[in-house]
Amino acid sequence: SRYRGDQIGRWLYRRSATDISQMSDLSSALREKLKRSFHVHGLRIERSLESLDGVTRKLLLAGHDRVLVESVLLPRRHGLALCLSSQAGCSMGCPFCATGLGGLRRNLTAGEIVDQFLLTRSLALASGTDIGSIVYMGMGEPLANLDNVKRSVERLVSDEYCGLGARRITLSTIGLRGRIRNLAGWPWKIGLAISLHAPNDEVRRRLVPPSRSFGLAELMAESMYYQRKTGRRVSYEYVMLESVNDSNDQAKALGDLLAGQLCHVNLIPYNAVAGANYRGSASDTIERFRRTLEATGVAVTIRRPRGRDIAAACGQLAGARVEGSP
Ligand code: SAH
Ligand code: SF4
Repeated sequence: SRYRGDQIGRWLYRRSATDISQMSDLSSALREKLKRSFHVHGLRIERSLESLDGVTRKLLLAGHDRVLVESVLLPRRHGLALCLSSQAGCSMGCPFCATGLGGLRRNLTAGEIVDQFLLTRSLALASGTDIGSIVYMGMGEPLANLDNVKRSVERLVSDEYCGLGARRITLSTIGLRGRIRNLAGWPWKIGLAISLHAPNDEVRRRLVPPSRSFGLAELMAESMYYQRKTGRRVSYEYVMLESVNDSNDQAKALGDLLAGQLCHVNLIPYNAVAGANYRGSASDTIERFRRTLEATGVAVTIRRPRGRDIAAACGQLAGARVEGSP
């Protein structure tokens, strides 16, 4: 019945029940029947690793078909930020990214995306904290799995389900043709982070292969459309790679590209990836780049690296089997 459905929904989404036995307002006969027919979580926790910083935590999760995905919990001023995956692997092929080097296994369903929130929220609540924000910055390209990602955002935002504010959700993307425009038409004004990494097409084509058929002019047009339509500041991610995209001239060119936009730039120190031929820029280079870019009038921040010791940092999520796991 509708009433029972609501009861079960409340347990799953509002109280993060991870086991049907916990649903104490259902009759034991009904609980037994449910247990025979359903599994609460599509994804289950295979491994949980805690960083030496004591707060950053990486979860290795397995799907029913044993496909592996990773979610990361990061400390923030207000509670934890959850970095979740939209795909198992990724087909975009960025040569500096661990996920990209592994290729795509498959899309995650909307349920599997929301599961990552439900599982990590149970952990957060159990340790006396809560999830304050969600970023689609784990494995995968969210706009390559648009329908499932849209349904997952709908559930995360809906009061009937997770009840999270759209302002607390950010999607990170390289940008695919027409899809940022599509995002701008969603009823929820979520945050948008665009992985730019280059001030011109020549450099970006090397770092982000799909940009060969979707150049910066088009990408900027869609981004500005998003800014106008939602009134939200777009954030541009820029991973700092030694002698690739970190010169002063490139900082100035980036400033020209972004002039007049409602945006800010987030410089990301590169996390070394085995099998990738890239080195991160030195910290004084990053600092110099920041100052040069700032002088053009663009707002800039430098991301603080987290969880490197457990390979939980951006771009290091590869769904790899952990030593000693079954
Ligand atoms: N596919 C989406 C979201 C997942 S990647 C995207 O590319 O935006 C999230 C961010 O991590 C992207 O900005 C990506 O460029 C960055 N990243 C990938 N590999 C990295 C690495 N090894 N070190 C630092 N950042 C990395
Ligand atoms: Fe995919 Fe993003 Fe990695 Fe590129 S950086 S391969 S789009 S996950």
